[in-house]
Amino acid sequence: MTLAWGRPMVAIPGPSVIPDQVLAAMHRPMTNIYEGELVDLTHSVLDDLADVARTEHRPFLSISNGHGAWEMVITNTLSRGDRVLVAATGHFAVAWGEVAQRLGIVVDYVESPLDQAFDPTELQARLEADRTYRAVLCVQVDTGTSVMNDIAAFRRALDAADHPAMLMVDCIASLGCAPFEMDAWGVDVTVASTQKGLMVPPGLGIVWAGPRALEAHRTAGLRTAYWDWTPRLDPEAPFYHLFAGTPPVSHLFGMRAALDLLLAEGVEAAWARHDVFARSVHAAVGAWGDGVDGLSLNVADPTHRAPSVTTILTGAGIDGAALRERAERSAGLTLGIPVGAFDGRAFRIGHMGHLNPPMLLGTLTTVEAVLESLGAPLGGSGAAAAAGVVGEALA
Ligand SMILES: *Cc1c(COP(=O)(O)O)cnc(C)c1O
Repeated sequence: MTLAWGRPMVAIPGPSVIPDQVLAAMHRPMTNIYEGELVDLTHSVLDDLADVARTEHRPFLSISNGHGAWEMVITNTLSRGDRVLVAATGHFAVAWGEVAQRLGIVVDYVESPLDQAFDPTELQARLEADRTYRAVLCVQVDTGTSVMNDIAAFRRALDAADHPAMLMVDCIASLGCAPFEMDAWGVDVTVASTQKGLMVPPGLGIVWAGPRALEAHRTAGLRTAYWDWTPRLDPEAPFYHLFAGTPPVSHLFGMRAALDLLLAEGVEAAWARHDVFARSVHAAVGAWGDGVDGLSLNVADPTHRAPSVTTILTGAGIDGAALRERAERSAGLTLGIPVGAFDGRAFRIGHMGHLNPPMLLGTLTTVEAVLESLGAPLGGSGAAAAAGVVGEALA
């Protein structure tokens, strides 16, 4: 039978659940796009986004998804034939490298095992061997593997190699979820988009550029009319130029409402909340897989795990596609598909953004019910284990 009548739960690693306050803020008539409320609101959004990324630098907003933001970074900072190094921790780091390659950049990939964070000593060795790299491209949370990289250690590796390359970090699946300190960690470019931890529908890319990236921009040969930062930087230019055309009115109102929620909670409190939820997902998978050939976490080392998404390996006895299909069709729960090398052997749970215990524990309990309905081998109750972690945090 199906029991899926009620509000569906989408537990994929983006787009994440959009708060009702954000949906309501976006559902409004168009306004004056040249002056007044929208202009003031946009400036407040840019200031608050700088605070969220822990930087003094206001971001550029691209009317695009994350892929567009990647392209905005490359075209604004590099020239055809420049060389970059990609810390290839999974699908997304590699995909950013491929965007650069298509634009004429020479890209070297340093492979890394898909179940652990990238080793900074490997980065240091590669940089010491080649001083020509203009940038290191990496992701904080690689959403396919659910590995979290140590970005502060990447900066230490660059410094230890005394290498001039810019450190460019994709925080699309981690901003607002995992600790991140753009300025303190010496990050030159940070990339995010709205639809993951920032709780706004897909449609805006966000790019913060530090002084070294802005310096590189002056001579970048790949600049194009639409992505170019220069007109967007001009304080005398009309507001219209901030977006190279009509501003994304609805998204800006939505972003304002989402930032109000995030700042009311506090960015650090949001990091702590994500940590609790991630640990309860890990505890659930540990209990389900305990002593049986069933589910297990892709990332064994707890310090390498993402706080926003978990990749769960299905083992021999469980059909991940059947699990996702029954969860969605019969229980109203949409789970994440495997990406990259995990095809057919995994599923993912997104636990980022607008999430509380009933949403998360409901998700995990529903996964358990569907596993039981499929006759999957279960070592113990993951739902109970997850509730234990949440209960401890509430005490
Ligand atoms: C989702 C995601 C992307 C891609 O973003 P799109 O908006 O789909 O282009 C890139 N990097 C990471 C780490 C992601 O999680």
